[in-house]
Amino acid sequence: MGVSDTRTEIRRFLDRHPLPTPCLVIDVDAVRQRFRELATAFGAAGGARVYFAVKACPEPAVLSALIAEGAHFDVASPGEIDLCLSRGAPATSLSYGNPIKKASAIARAHAAGVREFVCDAESDLDHIAQHAPGAEVSVRLLVDAPDSVTPFGSKFGCEPEVAARLLSKAGELGLDPAGLSFHVGSQQLDVKAWDLAIATAAKVAAAAGGTVRRLNLGGGYAIPYREPAPALTKYAEQAAVSLRSHFGDATPELLIEPGRAVVADAGLIRTEVVLVTRRRAADPRRWVYLDIGRYNGLAEAENEAIAYRVERAGGDRGEPEGPVVLAGPTCDGDDVLYQDTPYQLPLSLQPGDQLDIPGTGAYTASYSSVAFNGIEPLRTYCVSGGRLI
Ligand SMILES: *Cc1c(COP(=O)(O)O)cnc(C)c1O
Repeated sequence: MGVSDTRTEIRRFLDRHPLPTPCLVIDVDAVRQRFRELATAFGAAGGARVYFAVKACPEPAVLSALIAEGAHFDVASPGEIDLCLSRGAPATSLSYGNPIKKASAIARAHAAGVREFVCDAESDLDHIAQHAPGAEVSVRLLVDAPDSVTPFGSKFGCEPEVAARLLSKAGELGLDPAGLSFHVGSQQLDVKAWDLAIATAAKVAAAAGGTVRRLNLGGGYAIPYREPAPALTKYAEQAAVSLRSHFGDATPELLIEPGRAVVADAGLIRTEVVLVTRRRAADPRRWVYLDIGRYNGLAEAENEAIAYRVERAGGDRGEPEGPVVLAGPTCDGDDVLYQDTPYQLPLSLQPGDQLDIPGTGAYTASYSSVAFNGIEPLRTYCVSGGRLI
């Protein structure tokens, strides 16, 4: 089932079951398929364990489907740990990948059975040694990746010399210095980003006394929104080539932590037009206000970083179109989706018309505010085989 089939399936479901808008519908069969595609792509490149980054889509039905597929999980908080365990994930399938954690959160994770942690600073390493004795620790590297669509900047990761020192200190503290990790930025369209990061990892491995047992290639695998993105197989091929050239025969065991690539294409948001109007006489564009905005699902439109497709719900009727600015429904001046990125919508568009925003299975519902302006979090419906689950 391809991406366009998934969209057709979800639209058919919505035709049969009209739901109040805005709503997100996730086709869990498509999630399963994307997970398999990733595992296969990286399997062909030497094999990697796949850790789904829970923050991208913490829907219980999605987690259950992935558990059944044998997925591992990248979790960032006690809340995400509890969620995975409540769906039946073994604690040993969880990696606490957030380098920013309270000592109390480490203790809770350890008590729940989590044995894999990522760190990038000395105090966090000390806390892990104290509250999760003997745990496996990977050190996250600060990587000089080309900018992704939503880059991490300098928020995470340590420089190579620090990483080598943390690995050896982990051993001294009685922890298992399992290896290295990095994340080249989400929606990373440049596959060469992994080459730079893998080269850095190889240098640290050499400095740490030869090689490391484990290398976590992070997430960042992109999906096509309005612009094309490399195929998953291209990322896997690049990783295989870079591993061979920088690690030679001493290839470590591999992990990947995809979030977006597993779930984005499996979701579609249906929204309703609330208002269409012109603002300034000199601006020919119509302002189109939707019942969804940056605070109830489309947070990634911040800085217009992710430019989603926006289409008429009934499909393209070949009507004449004109330029629009797209905005959300709240009273916040920042709740504008796109005013620099050009969008066109039918000239006949009016309040009450419905629009579809495909490719929205990742980083939408999980970013939705609880009650800003009295608007409820984005309602999410999971379907499988065309039926609500
Ligand atoms: C968010 C995150 C991911 C997933 O990133 P994607 O770009 O969605 O693939 C993976 N690992 C870590 C540590 C993360 O914070």
